[in-house]
Amino acid sequence: MRATVIDGTAVAKRILDETRQRAAKFERSHGRKPCLATVLVGDDPASHTYVRMKGNRCRTTGLDSRHHQLPQTAGTCQVVELVTELAHDDAVDGILVQHPMPAQIDEREVFEAITPDKDVDGVTLASFSAMALGGRGFQSCTPGGIMRLLDAYDVDPAGQHAVVIGRSPILGKPVGMLLLGRDATVTYCHSKTTNLSAVVAAADIVVAAVGRPELIKGDWIKPGAVVIDAGYNPGNVGDVEYRAAAERACLITPVPGGVGPTTIAVLLAQTVDAAERVTPS
Ligand code: NAP
Repeated sequence: MRATVIDGTAVAKRILDETRQRAAKFERSHGRKPCLATVLVGDDPASHTYVRMKGNRCRTTGLDSRHHQLPQTAGTCQVVELVTELAHDDAVDGILVQHPMPAQIDEREVFEAITPDKDVDGVTLASFSAMALGGRGFQSCTPGGIMRLLDAYDVDPAGQHAVVIGRSPILGKPVGMLLLGRDATVTYCHSKTTNLSAVVAAADIVVAAVGRPELIKGDWIKPGAVVIDAGYNPGNVGDVEYRAAAERACLITPVPGGVGPTTIAVLLAQTVDAAERVTPS
């Protein structure tokens, strides 16, 4: 194998260690821990697991977490009411509404009930605009984690051709914006893209954010490219054909242990930012 494997767990640990110190300092000066409120609507087992992991990670990092569970049948008004209450609660610093939500819920209306100063998951239009325009605001956590991985391995996106496969509002689109903000030349690919292999083959940085196991073939990767695989599919399989891609790439994220661990670390770091009332630029 030619590529250096990007150790997302180690990068996440460094972010969490720093966050733990900042949380302890905040507690000393404010007499309380920074607090993340989590909201989960419905019974989706994977969402339950994700929310539990976030709560556990808060505890081991010295943050409080307050969990709010609503039934599968909850309507948009009920969720908006809860989120609005949390947005006005001075003891809550950050709000995470786990998604996807049940089909009857208007997710956008729920997200917009989060005030931008507590939007530590980066899901509001205000946060998205900040990412797009380079303003002050919280980042979507997975894209934020990807940028931290690149920084940790001294990958400067400036002047590089970055190809992002996927254009979801929480992952593909914002990661492309962040790369553009760092002076990469960005190409987005999606389900209607033709000749995906040729577009990927021109990339210096490949970000796979699709959710299709091994869609990106190893022999598409340009020799020496950086490969970031955000995909997480059943059986711990990413969106990139890992072994074959690692023969050509210079840096590659494994699945698991690459992008995943940094997502929660960024969420907690941004919760402490919110507690300190610091909105990162
Ligand atoms: P999503 O909302 O389903 O978006 C998938 C994107 O992939 C869409 O933009 C879609 O294009 C595109 N796509 C689908 N089939 C394609 C194809 N054959 N060729 C090119 N593009 C194609 O998914 P998501 O929420 O962004 O998540 C993507 C993956 O990242 C999933 O595996 C998810 O589990 C993982 N993820 C990981 C983390 C983490 O913390 N590690 C966090 C979030 C997500 P259209 O827009 O045209 O439909």
